[in-house]
Amino acid sequence: MYPPKFDYYRAGSVDEAVALLQQHSGAKLLAGGHSLLPALKLRLSDPGALIDIGRISALKELFMNRGGGWEIGALATHTQIATTVGGQGFEAFAEAANGIGDPQVRNRGTIGGNIAHADPASDWPTVLVAFGASIQIVGPAGRRTLSAEEFFIDFFMTALADGEIVERITAPAMNPPSNGGVGSAYAKMAHPASRFAILGAAAVVQVANGVCAQAGVAVGGLTPTAKRANTVSAALVGQSLNDETIEAAAAKVADDLGDDVNGDIHASAEYRAAMAPVYVARAIRQAAARAA
Ligand SMILES: Cc1cc2nc3c(=O)[nH]c(=O)nc-3n(C[C@H](O)[C@H](O)[C@H](O)COP(=O)(O)OP(=O)(O)OC[C@H]3O[C@@H](n4cnc5c(N)ncnc54)[C@H](O)[C@@H]3O)c2cc1C
Repeated sequence: MYPPKFDYYRAGSVDEAVALLQQHSGAKLLAGGHSLLPALKLRLSDPGALIDIGRISALKELFMNRGGGWEIGALATHTQIATTVGGQGFEAFAEAANGIGDPQVRNRGTIGGNIAHADPASDWPTVLVAFGASIQIVGPAGRRTLSAEEFFIDFFMTALADGEIVERITAPAMNPPSNGGVGSAYAKMAHPASRFAILGAAAVVQVANGVCAQAGVAVGGLTPTAKRANTVSAALVGQSLNDETIEAAAAKVADDLGDDVNGDIHASAEYRAAMAPVYVARAIRQAAARAA
């Protein structure tokens, strides 16, 4: 299949990319191309112009900041994240990255393209929402930062305004307390062909003196955008994390999901809703084991 005709521009810097977006109304940024090119070939998109940001080195930065959080440039590939973002508490990043698609997709696809595309079946939104990550955006009006929860609005819809670019993602520090530890995990029911998430659950827990001091849990794949499961997190805090307390807390995910569960040809809404507590419990159990 051939894409519709388009003009091609290569941006050498973030400022140039912002300027090119302003000059070419309706133009699309090209990062790894693993969502955009299929959309063009299927004629779901006909932007007229593509602005290639793939060689902007400032967007490729990936490092641990002084506070112990991770700064992840929009052009970081899934493979780079899998092999770089690590350390106690960040296990979910490598787990999610390693479970994306196949080696070609992981080597070309970028986290910025993934979250800007906002496919409800993608993995990063769930992980970023669970961690309370923030997303730095640059555009004609300057820079602004949104929480992951604010960034994802609906199916394939984000808070990005016309002409704005995802520049960087910041995952906050996971400093373990002196009397305990931190751990995270991502558990997904993957589509057997594409590996996209039919359902994904991410959990981050901090354990101190044998009880859960803090928890962040999110689910995705089954809702229009990844959802923070605050009821589940609240049920974990103050508990000693064992099978009984984890399963009791995970069962409360239904309260967080409400009526917002999607069904499609891959899995019905009822099936996904029934599986949600199973995958949420798996993620929490693994995160708790790592925190111990
Ligand atoms: C076979 C296959 C299997 C896959 N499996 C999975 C999976 O299991 N899990 C998963 O999460 N994903 C999966 N994906 C999607 C993959 O992760 C894509 O790489 C990703 O969704 C898009 O990233 P990209 O860099 O390729 O972006 P592109 O395709 O280049 O761009 C996607 C969209 O984002 C915009 N964009 C790109 N970068 C920016 C930016 N910095 N700021 C603003 N807008 C931007 C583009 O204009 C475009 O609209 C799969 C894809 C394929 C083809």
